Amino acid sequence: MWSQIGAWYLDPRFIEIPITTLALSLGAFLAFATPWTLLAYFDPVWAQPYRIQNKPFDVSRYLRRNLWLITRNALIMLAVLVLIWPLLRLSEIHDGILPEWYVIASQLVFFILLDDYLYYWLHRSMHSQKWLLKHVHAVHHEIRNPCALAGNYFHWLEYLLTGALALVGPILVGCHIVVLYVWIIIRQLEAADGHAGYDFPWNPLRYLPFYDGPVYHDFHHARFKGNYAGFLHYVDRFYGTYIKEYLSYRYKRWISRPSDPSAH
Ligand SMILES: [Zn+2]
Ligand SMILES: [Zn+2]
Repeated sequence: MWSQIGAWYLDPRFIEIPITTLALSLGAFLAFATPWTLLAYFDPVWAQPYRIQNKPFDVSRYLRRNLWLITRNALIMLAVLVLIWPLLRLSEIHDGILPEWYVIASQLVFFILLDDYLYYWLHRSMHSQKWLLKHVHAVHHEIRNPCALAGNYFHWLEYLLTGALALVGPILVGCHIVVLYVWIIIRQLEAADGHAGYDFPWNPLRYLPFYDGPVYHDFHHARFKGNYAGFLHYVDRFYGTYIKEYLSYRYKRWISRPSDPSAH
C-alpha cells in the first residue's frame, strides 16, 4: 500500500499539475499585480484623474497583511493539493499531445464563462450567508479602495474555494496541462486587473467583450453589495444584482473621455 502511495507522488504529473500550477498562479498574480500596486503606492499626479475612487490608496496600510495572507494561503493550498493528489490524479488532465489551437481557444472561453458563473454564486452566497460574510468574506472586504495586490487578499477558506472553482472546468474537460497553465494565468490576470484601482483608457483588457475593466469590481468593494461576478458583468445584469451607479459612472468615463477629471 505504501509503495502504491509513493508511486502516486513520484508520478511526474504530481509536479506538473498541483505544484507547477500553484507556482505559476502565484508568479503570474505577482507579475500582474506588482506594477499596478507600485503605481497605486506612488500614485503620481498624472495618474490621479484615472483613480476609480476619488481618494488616495491605502497601499502601505495593508501591504504586510496582504503579503502574509498570500504566503499563508499559498502554503495551505499546497498542503491541500498534496493531500488530495490521490484524488486529483484521477482527473483526465494530461501532458500528452497538445490539441489544435481552436480546441484550446474554446476550452479557455469555456473555463472563463464557467468559472465566472460559479464564482458569481459563491460570491453572492458569501454576502447572503451571514456567517460566511462575517467570518470569511469580510477579510476580502477589509479593503474598500483596492489596489491590484488586494486581488489575493483572502481568508484561507475563500482562497481554497476560489481555487477549487477554477479547477472545475479543466477537470470536467480533461484538458492538456498547458491549457490549465494558460487558464490559471488568465484567472490571475482577472484578479489583478479587477482590483487595479485605476481606469485607464489604454488598458487593453477593458475592450474585451463582456468585461468592463477594473471599474466593475471596484464598485463592489466601494458599495459592498452587487456586482458579484468576478469578471463578466452580464451575469449580474441577468440576475438584476448589478450596481446601477456603476453604469452611470461607466457612461461618464467612457463616453465623455478622455481627460476630464471632473467626470469621476
Ligand atoms: Zn464581496
Ligand atoms: Zn475584490
